[in-house]
Amino acid sequence: MVEDEPAIADTVRYALEREGFAVVAAGDGDTGIERFRAEHPSLVILDLMLPALSGLDVCRLIRAESPVPIIMLTAKDSEADKVAGLEIGADDYVTKPFSVRELVSRVRALLRRAGLAVAAEPAEVLRGGPVEMDTASHEVRVRGEVVAFPHKEFELLETLLARRGRLLTRDFLISEVWGVDYFGDTKTLDVHVKRLRRKIEEDPHRPVHLVTVRGLGYKFVG
Ligand code: CA
Repeated sequence: MVEDEPAIADTVRYALEREGFAVVAAGDGDTGIERFRAEHPSLVILDLMLPALSGLDVCRLIRAESPVPIIMLTAKDSEADKVAGLEIGADDYVTKPFSVRELVSRVRALLRRAGLAVAAEPAEVLRGGPVEMDTASHEVRVRGEVVAFPHKEFELLETLLARRGRLLTRDFLISEVWGVDYFGDTKTLDVHVKRLRRKIEEDPHRPVHLVTVRGLGYKFVG
């Protein structure tokens, strides 16, 4: 994302990161080009009105070396700018002031069109026992109270909740949460289960929700 207004840059970054995208930001065109060459992003969000090198210049330079999808952010009434942007190779534009939701949905649409993998639309609340997990906002409540779950704990809990009531083998859980190519210590799983139990169970030593199926794996009950 190349955007010189910090308030807009922060808002857009926050919204995209919440949806699971990684964002590399640049505050001017030269830095934008530099970051583009270093990071090879899947998509570029490009403000048209930039100091020094303009958005159109940046678009032209990027387009000369890559077919990467480009979304232009243009000012309110500049029909000419939109046309110019599209003519030199931008794929879409969003007019300022824009809704972040709108921008995120354009990002998804462009990535989909470009054949790039896009994470599933998250809008789901998973429930089980005392736990309520909002996968979109990444918020977990236990007995109504918000509890923090670091990344891997969150993923493990999500995997268990999404398949509530079913036996999940250790191998399955490890490959879902740590990846099929995980070669680390399989004790990692047990450590995370222990942490989850401390946050979820009334008595972590006698779990009634995140239960062990001896010799096989784990199951979420409730
Ligand atoms: Ca600007």
